[in-house]
Parts: sequence; structure tokens; C-alpha cells
Amino acid sequence: MITTAAVVHDPHGPFVFEEVELDEPRADEVLVRVVATGLCHTDLSVKEQLPPEMFPRVFGHEGTGVVEAVGPDVVGIEVGDHVVVSFRSCRACAACAEGAVGYCEQTLMLNYMGFRMDGSTTHHRDGAPLYGSFFGQSSMARHAIAYADNCVVVDRDLDLTLLAPFACGFQTGAGTVLNLMRPDAGSSLVVFGAGAVGLAAIAAAAAAGCPTIVAVDLMESRLEAAARYGAIGVDPTTLGDQPVAERVKELTAGGASFAIDTTAVPQVVTQAQLSLRVRGTLVALGLGPAEYTIDAIDLLQNGKIIRSSIEGEADPQTFIPHLLDLRAQGRFDVDHLVTTYPFTELDTAIADVLAGRVVKPVLVW
Ligand SMILES: [Zn+2]
Ligand SMILES: [Zn+2]
Repeated sequence: MITTAAVVHDPHGPFVFEEVELDEPRADEVLVRVVATGLCHTDLSVKEQLPPEMFPRVFGHEGTGVVEAVGPDVVGIEVGDHVVVSFRSCRACAACAEGAVGYCEQTLMLNYMGFRMDGSTTHHRDGAPLYGSFFGQSSMARHAIAYADNCVVVDRDLDLTLLAPFACGFQTGAGTVLNLMRPDAGSSLVVFGAGAVGLAAIAAAAAAGCPTIVAVDLMESRLEAAARYGAIGVDPTTLGDQPVAERVKELTAGGASFAIDTTAVPQVVTQAQLSLRVRGTLVALGLGPAEYTIDAIDLLQNGKIIRSSIEGEADPQTFIPHLLDLRAQGRFDVDHLVTTYPFTELDTAIADVLAGRVVKPVLVW
């Protein structure tokens, strides 16, 4: 079939809406008519990092839509189903067998390379291959080819526009808190960088009953968004000579049990470490520089843990429905974080999120 996609021709080039050829779904594939796609920072950072020979390419990995066709081997998905399309996993390797599908041994092939396991591409243009299959979807397009492992079927009365960020950003932030940290009534959390991932983490911590939550960000609008969940806002530029870690320690009775960094700024990661109390855990979620500076004395003396997390340790097939249940109960109120744009205003959406004018842009056909 012919569909429209936002095609990128080189790593530093623009997104150009063009007609492309999309394969009929194979036996294990699902054809989705895309309703909305969230813009995630990974779309932009992977684009910049891939070599030029891996273009032209279609990005987009927070898709939602309606199933239009299903291959004969697909189980559990029917034509007409409404789906949130998340990341892919093989469901057969050792990591997948443990339920750690974010660490699937095939994750590079299934999510990033741009073609199927047999080397064929789902997309073509003028008979030439066009790299697609980004997170098993490439959903910056009117149609996407997805799979049973990454399509999560949702209630048809839910607004698919608001569900797009659950595919990656909201799942990552909330999953880091609910699956990895598991805060309780004695916990405290500090989040450095209150964008979509950070605010989803804060919302989840509030839902889990974490009594003390601190948000650190330079933007007043984001601290206001965090305050809706009861988080105390800290703007480091207002602290004078006081290091932000010291301020967080004051606010958390000696140090936070948990810290999340979404900024990937090395100095911020160091402050996040220093904000922790004894045996506290820092989860670094930002995608950025190759090296961070760890304060080794602080680490050793206090038994701290510094680690990362892929997609919030979540299996989208169970975790996205769980988050949607919390949302339905009013305990995970993240709708106000979304700003919608017509798909054709993709460039505006990118500019707005990079400037911090919006938290989570979602592109809508
Ligand atoms: Zn696997
Ligand atoms: Zn993402």
C-alpha cells in the first residue's frame, strides 16, 4: 500500500512528509492505522547518532492506532482493536524468559536497525528499501507495521491521542518508580529534570504514597506541573552558593531514598548522587554523554547504588494496562502533560519541546 510518512534523509536533515510504499503485513505482522504518535527524545537522539548510510528512515515509537489487518500467525489481536504500540522484544531469550523484556538479547535488531530479522525492510520508495521498523513500528506515518509483542490492546472508549506517551516516556518514568524503586510511606524521591519521563515518575511516586517528592528543574512551568502531584520544586538558579544536593538533603530529612536523573548533564548526575541518603539508589535515565563523574568516597562510605533502567523495567503487555487502570482511578493523572499537534506541524512540536515550552508533544493525524 501507499502511505504518508515523515521521512528523514540524513542524520541532521529535516523530517519530510512523503508518500512511501508499505508492505502488506506478513504472517506475524499487524497493520495499524496510526491515530497519534508521541515525540520522544530518543527519536531525535538516535537520528543524530546513526551513520548516514542507515538513511532514509522513518522514526516514531510512541504510536497508537486502530488495527486494519492481522497476519495469520498473530494471536490476541483483531481487526478493529485499538492499540498502544510500545517497544519490541523476542519473548524467547533468557532476559525475556525472566520478564526483563527491555533487556531482550534481540533488542538492537528488533528496535533500532530499521529492518526485519531477515534483512528486508517494511518500507520502500521507488522500489528502493527505506529503513523502517523503528521500535517495530516507525509510527511517524499514517500507517505502521507492528507485532503482537509490542501491540497492547486497550479499551476502545479511551482517547488514543492521550495514550501515545504510555508507549515509552510515561512507561519509563512510572516503571522506574513502581517496578524498580517501589517507594513506601518512609521513602523520599528527588527527580532531576521534570520533563515527560520525570513528571511521570513523580506522578507514579505520588500514586505509590511516597510522602516526600522533590522536583529539580530550571523551568517554572515544569515545577508547577510537579507541584500538582505534591512535589516540592527546586530551581537551582535560586539557591545562591548552596549546592542543589544540600538543598535536597534539607528537604528530605538528610537525603533522598531515591533519585532519578533525566538530564544526562554530568554535573547534575553528580548532584543527584550526593542528594541520596545512606544506601540510596540513583537511577540515571538520560541519554547523553559517554561519561559521568561519580564521587567515589561518597559512594563507598554510604553504600549507594547507581544504576540505569530501560523502559522502567516494564513489560508493556502488563504494565501499560496497569498504568491505564491507575489513570482510570484518578491516581495517575498525566493527561495535562500532553500537547497535541497536527502531524504536519512536527517541526513546531520539536522546537517547542526542545525549548521547554511543552512537556509532551503528541502528533495527531
Ligand atoms: Zn528476548
Ligand atoms: Zn522513547
